[in-house]
This record gives sequence, C-alpha cells and structure tokens, in this order.
Amino acid sequence: MGVLRLQSRGKLYVVGIGAGNDLLTLRALRAIEESEYIVGYKKYVEEISDLIKGKKIVTTGMREEIKRVEIAVELAKKSVVSLVSGGDPSIYGILPFVFEYVMDKNLEIDIEVIPGVSAVNAVSALLGCPISGDHVVISLSDLLVPWNVIESRLIYALNGDFVIAIYNPSSSSRKEKLVRAMNLIYTLRGDLQIGVVKNAFRDGESIAIMRVSEIIEKPELVDMNTTLIVPNSDTIVKNGKMFTPRKSRVAKMGAKTTKAVEIAEKSSEILRKIVPGNTLRDEVLRRCIATTGDPSFAEVVQFRGDPEEGVKAIKDGARIIVDVKMVKVGLRMHSICATDFAEDEDTKTASGFKKIAKLLKGSVVAIGNSPSAAIAVYEIAKEYKPRFIIATPVGFVNAEESKQMISSLNLPSITTKGTKGGSNVCTAILNCLIEHAERSD
Ligand code: SAH
Repeated sequence: MGVLRLQSRGKLYVVGIGAGNDLLTLRALRAIEESEYIVGYKKYVEEISDLIKGKKIVTTGMREEIKRVEIAVELAKKSVVSLVSGGDPSIYGILPFVFEYVMDKNLEIDIEVIPGVSAVNAVSALLGCPISGDHVVISLSDLLVPWNVIESRLIYALNGDFVIAIYNPSSSSRKEKLVRAMNLIYTLRGDLQIGVVKNAFRDGESIAIMRVSEIIEKPELVDMNTTLIVPNSDTIVKNGKMFTPRKSRVAKMGAKTTKAVEIAEKSSEILRKIVPGNTLRDEVLRRCIATTGDPSFAEVVQFRGDPEEGVKAIKDGARIIVDVKMVKVGLRMHSICATDFAEDEDTKTASGFKKIAKLLKGSVVAIGNSPSAAIAVYEIAKEYKPRFIIATPVGFVNAEESKQMISSLNLPSITTKGTKGGSNVCTAILNCLIEHAERSD
C-alpha cells in the first residue's frame, strides 16, 4: 500500500522525533523510511542524520516555520514527505502551522500526524516522577502569545495547584521574563524546589533541583534548551528526585489549628445560650451570629427547604461556585469564583456568572457580596438549576429584592432578610455545610 501511494499521490507525515536522541517511535521511523523528502529545522534534521541517508533533504532556519510548511505541503502534493519536529509536533511545534496553512488554502492533502515524546515526558522521566497526575504545560515565549496572557495562565495554574512544566523558559533576549515568572511562583507558592533539566537525552544533559530564589539570583543557569518542572503541594523532593504521589493529600483547605478549635468551642458555649438546639438550622444561625457578633441574625437568616440538601450536594462532590474572592479565600474547600470569568468590568460578578451559566447546574452557589450577581443567578437558575443557593448580599441598593428573588426559586436556599448579610456571613454558612458534609462521612 505504502509503495502504491508513493507512486500515485503524495502524502505528508508530520513526524515528532522526540525530545532527545533515541526517543523516536517505531512509527516515526517507518514514516521517515517511506519518505522521499525530509523537511525540517536544521537542528532536528541533524539529530536524525543517521536515519535519512540517501533522502532528499530540505532544511530551513529557526523562526522559518511558515516557509518550512509551505515547502513540505507543496512537495507533498506529489511525493511522500516527512516534516520533522522536535519532541511532539503539536506542542509548540510545527503542526499548528501546517493546519493553519492547509485550512487557509483549503487544500486536500493526505496528512498523518505521528506523535512524539515531548520535553515534559523526557524531563519528568529524568527527574523521577513529578507528572503523575494533573499537570499543565506553559511556554514563557511571548513571540506568539502576549506576556499578560502567559502570566495570567501561570497564576491560574499555580493557584490550581497543578504540577507545571515550563517550556521556552529563557532565551538570550528574554531573561527578564524568566525572573518575573519565578517571582510570581515565589509570591504565590513560596521558595519551591524546581526541577531544572537541560538537554534531556542529548549531549550536555544536566539535571538539577534548584530553589526559586536561586533561579532568581542566577537566571543564566536556565537557557532555551531547559525545561522547568514546578511541583504541586503533593510533590516530594528527596535524594535528588521529584515524585508526586497519585493520592492527593490536599483535597481540603484551611484545616483548623488547635488554638482555633479552642476558641471556637468557647464561643460555641456562649452562642448556645442565644440559639439552643442541635439541628443544622440552629448551627447555621449560631455561625452567622458568631461571625457578625449580632444576635439579631437569629431572625435575619431564612431557610427555604432543608439545609441538609446543601450538605448532601457537597458530599456528592457538587462544585461550589461563589461570587467574590472574599468568599473563596475563607472557604474550607476549593471553589470556583465568578469574578475570575468576568468580561464586563461594570458588573463583574454578574458577568462572571453569565459566562459560566451552564456550570451552575447541579452546583452549590454562594453569593456573599453582589446583589446584581444574585439577580443574574436567579435568571440562570431557571435554565441551569443549582442544587443549593446561599445568598447574603448586603446593602441598600437591590440587596433585599435580589435575595427575595433567590428565595422565591423552587430550590433549597439560605438567604438573609433585608439589608443585612455580607461575604463573611456567606462564608460562615457555607463552611458550616462543608463541615457537616465532612463530619458525616
Ligand atoms: N515540540 C517540542 C517543544 C518545542 S519548544 C516538544 O514537544 O518537546 C522548545 C522548548 O522545548 C525548549 O525551549 C525547551 O524548554 C523544551 N525542550 C525541548 N527539548 C528539550 C530537551 N531535550 N531537554 C529539555 N528541554 C527541552
């Protein structure tokens, strides 16, 4: 079949040759053997020079991706061509340029993509086993992606507690971006130990584990042939190896200290005098009074349906969506914050909720701050019904009306009457439900 195709029409193989010597797959080898032409960036073509003797070879320089693609595609109209790319051809490689070219020109070319061992795989293997679970790949090159986008993606990855592989960490003209990225890591996660691997599976290979502060001091130790691995909170660094266990120890956040437990117990004694009783409702009321110092909350908090429904939802693993960061940071569990998705600056929380409307279905939604967010959730809930809503926006404009709207929905909720409420009240109620969900495990 291969030979017939060779004679009758062309074909374009886009071949990943792996991020290092001998990391090429058997399938890649067969494609190269079958090809009449080999097209690629000089460095990659040299890497496979033993395998391409007698072939017609076309090489181009760095940053000449479009030219390389054009040559390969034109040749592939009549001949079998391997367009080779380091590592995997899709990851910061040549493949997206091929698709762009072919789709733009509406060409019908027979294309076969052969995946390759990417730098993240090669580097992880040399460091031990840092990428055992959820991980993110980020390139610090701002040639094609603006720096502010790169930086915000890095922030999200760090906050999401992903293991992060950093490609293109530095070049002679871009050292300061590496330092900015390291400063961000230092600020958000501290002086972590970073895996630093240069020329994995190539001549000049070096494997090191360095503190973020060391890299900030000596950025010249990291060059364009290096990939960095940022650990997550589960990653263990020992005897020069990095290892992230599959079983995560950080599912929950904000475990209480002994002192905090003592204070909570003392205050609970006093609160029990104001609101006796052992139902979940009683406990929610006590939490609201504790957080505001205002006993009138016993009359302010109103329940629709059974608050146990909220506990059940959390136990079932329902996602938690909150309106503002202030609620998020106080929670004992991971949550999604609507303002992170906002597009419209004027009503940030409402815009954020609209953007992620579909995610509200089956979720536990908590609004502590913004009446306009509560109104947006009221509208969204008609189509994408949450399992439970807590709404305690505070203030004199629309707060009361927005909460009445939420409590009129045909689903279980906890709201506060009138002008009273706030993010702290919202967090207190939600933490109470979360603790119950954990307790009755
Ligand atoms: N398509 C390639 C990546 C190309 S971007 C892949 O899938 O691996 C180039 C970046 O890849 C480099 O700046 C470096 O960060 C990383 N890289 C590629 N090969 C590497 C190697 N052998 N050792 C360490 N990093 C490597």
